[in-house]
Order: sequence, then C-alpha cells, then structure tokens
Amino acid sequence: MVATLGRAGTAAMCALMVCLVIVASYTVLVSSGAHPRPGGLGPGPFYANDGGSRFAPVTTGYIPLGRTEISVPILMYHYIQDLPRNPDTLTYNLTVTPANFTGQMDWLRANAYHTVTIDDLRAYFTGQHTLPSKPVVITLDDGYRDLYTTAYPILRAHDFKAVAYIVTGFVNQPRYVTSGMIVEMDRYGIEIASHTVDHPNLARLTEPSVAYQVVYSKQWLEKLLGHAVVDFAYPSGRFDATDEVELQEAGYSTAVTELESTHHTWATRLAWSRTRVGGAWHLSDFIKGLGPIEPYVIQTTLPVSES
Ligand SMILES: [Zn+2]
Repeated sequence: MVATLGRAGTAAMCALMVCLVIVASYTVLVSSGAHPRPGGLGPGPFYANDGGSRFAPVTTGYIPLGRTEISVPILMYHYIQDLPRNPDTLTYNLTVTPANFTGQMDWLRANAYHTVTIDDLRAYFTGQHTLPSKPVVITLDDGYRDLYTTAYPILRAHDFKAVAYIVTGFVNQPRYVTSGMIVEMDRYGIEIASHTVDHPNLARLTEPSVAYQVVYSKQWLEKLLGHAVVDFAYPSGRFDATDEVELQEAGYSTAVTELESTHHTWATRLAWSRTRVGGAWHLSDFIKGLGPIEPYVIQTTLPVSES
C-alpha cells in the first residue's frame, strides 16, 4: 500500500503512524488482603520491558469515590527521639526512636504506601478527589521540639506528608516547636491542626472552658498560618458527646481520638480512631497495625504504537 502512495503518501503515512500512538487505559480492581504483598501491585510509575521506548506504561492505583466506609490507618506518634535514661512507663510508650521511625517510613515507601492528610480524607468523603492506593495518615501529637528536629527531616527525606496536632499554649517553650517551625512545616505540606491551648482533659471541663480550648487554639493557628484550621485531636483521647458539639460550633470538621481502628466513615468524623505506634513495637507489629488494605483500582496508561 505504501508503494502506491508515492513520496508524499509515504510521508503522510509515517505521520499517521506517529499520530497513531494512542493512549489506552486499563483498570483492574485489587481486592483487599490482610497484609501488603511485597513485590505485588504497587503504585506507579513502573516501567514494563518496552525495548527502551519513551512510550512506557505508567501504572497508578487509586480508591474510587463513593465508598461510605474505608480502611485507612491513622498512625499516632508522640516523641520521635532516643529514649532518655530510665524512662517512666508513659515516656517509654510514647517514644519511637529515630531509627525505628526511619525503618517504618522506609517500609511504607518500599511497600507502596502513600501518605495522605486528614484534609485528603475529607476531600475523599466529600467527593472532591480520590485517594491513592494504600493510603496512610501519619499524625504527631503535642508539637514537641523533635517533631521539627527529628521527625520532619525524616518525613522530608521520604517525600511524605503528615499531620501535626499542636498545643498552642506550649509553642515557643524550650521543649516544643516554635512559631517559625510551624509555619515552615505548614508551607512544606505538613498539615497543622489543633490539640487545644494547654492539653486539658476536655471531658472534665465546663462547656465555656471547652469552648475556650477549641476556639482560641484554632484562632491562634489560623492567625499564624493565614488559612483555616479545621482538624482537631482530643488531648489524651478523652472526649464526650458535648465536646463534639463544641467542636462543630467552633467550625471544626474532624477530630481524632485514641480509639483503635482503621475504619472510618464521614458520619464518625468527630471521633475518628487511630493506631498508636508503640515504643516497644517491632517492625512486624507496625505492619500488623496498618490493618486491612482498602481495595483499590489499578489504572495503566499505556501508549500503543501502531506499526
Ligand atoms: Zn496530646
């Protein structure tokens, strides 16, 4: 056929062949499993053996919109530091060493997990955007100085997001982050959220006192950052039904607790559960703590060259 077209026809044919590089998409639903499968279906991009072509297939995984309940681990951390000498039980349980934290972040990356924020969960449940495959939320409570000096550099090295719940009355004290550190982390993409003014047990406070704790901390952070702050963590996970009302009236959208589960719905957004990463945890405990993998869809964008 080409022989009958002449030079102009051949050129047109070649141009047509180039144009016939068409993009095909394939989707595969990946069902849930109890544990991640090393070497299994991960996030894109991965490159098939395409003979060196620049038209390499790109594979991404995502959780489609519309599910009312999803399993997403919201990991809870406090101190990321080496254990002090003779730590008491509380400090021991709240401390993950930098080496272990790095090992956990390495494992998440190697096993194709994607860090998301509470803001991303809100966007999913309100139909604004999908979630990536194997989403995980990393939260760090209280705003200790090691959030900035230790956890933040490790997160950046992994290109990971996280959520920091700040006790505003402690900011700029020696053991805690400074205002400048909070602003820097916010600009990078660490979601900054409220953890009250001075970390009281809300369940024991009068309504006006609860209102002060939730309203003032929110306003303080919003003034510092120049944007809305609508996510909250209950100090020590303690709360009651009236606290949820106070939070809603103050303009909060979500609140996390210390209840243990990885399953979340939009209806329970003012009492979302978390997974406490224990100081004594081995990597195997960490992997188990991530819970079931939410089923996701694999989409392969595959340029096909007609020749
Ligand atoms: Zn706390």
